[in-house]
Amino acid sequence: MKLCRYDHSHIGVILNDEVVEITDLFNTTPSWPIPPGDWIVRQFPDVLPKVAGHIAGRKGVPLSSVRLDTPVANPGKIIGAPVNYAKHQAEAAADKQISGGREVPLIGQMGLFLKATSALNGPNDAIRLAFSDRRNDHELELGLVIGKEGYQIAREDALSYVAAYSIALDMTVRGKEVQCFRKSADTYAVMGPWLVTADEIPDPSDLRLKLLVNGETRQEASTRDMIYDVPRLIEYASSMYTLYPGDIIMTGTPEGVSEVLAGDVLDASLENIGEMRLNIIAAK
Ligand code: MN
Repeated sequence: MKLCRYDHSHIGVILNDEVVEITDLFNTTPSWPIPPGDWIVRQFPDVLPKVAGHIAGRKGVPLSSVRLDTPVANPGKIIGAPVNYAKHQAEAAADKQISGGREVPLIGQMGLFLKATSALNGPNDAIRLAFSDRRNDHELELGLVIGKEGYQIAREDALSYVAAYSIALDMTVRGKEVQCFRKSADTYAVMGPWLVTADEIPDPSDLRLKLLVNGETRQEASTRDMIYDVPRLIEYASSMYTLYPGDIIMTGTPEGVSEVLAGDVLDASLENIGEMRLNIIAAK
């Protein structure tokens, strides 16, 4: 199932280029204190089995007539995976602008990092460069959304904790500052264009990703080259943090990262998920 959030406060299912609204299947009035995680994703286990019956015979509106928002409105955390592809490690080690002149260890030595949730950005919102005079890069990644609460999740159970997948862009300012600063600028955590529920992607370990800048291919890879695969990332993250419904994991970028400038147009696609186009605009 393809699920989207659109026109700010609507939730829909995408069927053949149409959006059928399912907002009224959800309780949209949180009560304080709001439980950790995302209020809507937390309801997926109760609501998603009712969707087919609810939308039967209903008419949708054209997908092109709605404005898609970040598919998860309020993730509790956005977890990033540093240096999770060997060829990206090699390109980073060879380029001081990427490495900041530091050693580039692999993910097992680096751990994970957190991106600010205020950096979240949807498929229809431009990416606004934080420092136009610094090098800003695209990092195309498989994004996943956690569906149920878990701590110290075993690798063999890990995929059952995934609610859905989407395309993610872990936008980055290069430099010497810590990752949580350089990767947390407003608009630097892109998720979209919608969620594809995990039942449609039973095995995320061989999905093609592709990113073009102004029509020119920069990144083209497969998730099979991840050093820590999706189950291992969930096991690793949950060894440190409790994962809650709506938490996002950006699974690391393959090789081919490069600078983006104001005016650039990015076309990102991910097998079995879809594609989206993003514009880069200058800092204010
Ligand atoms: Mn990344």
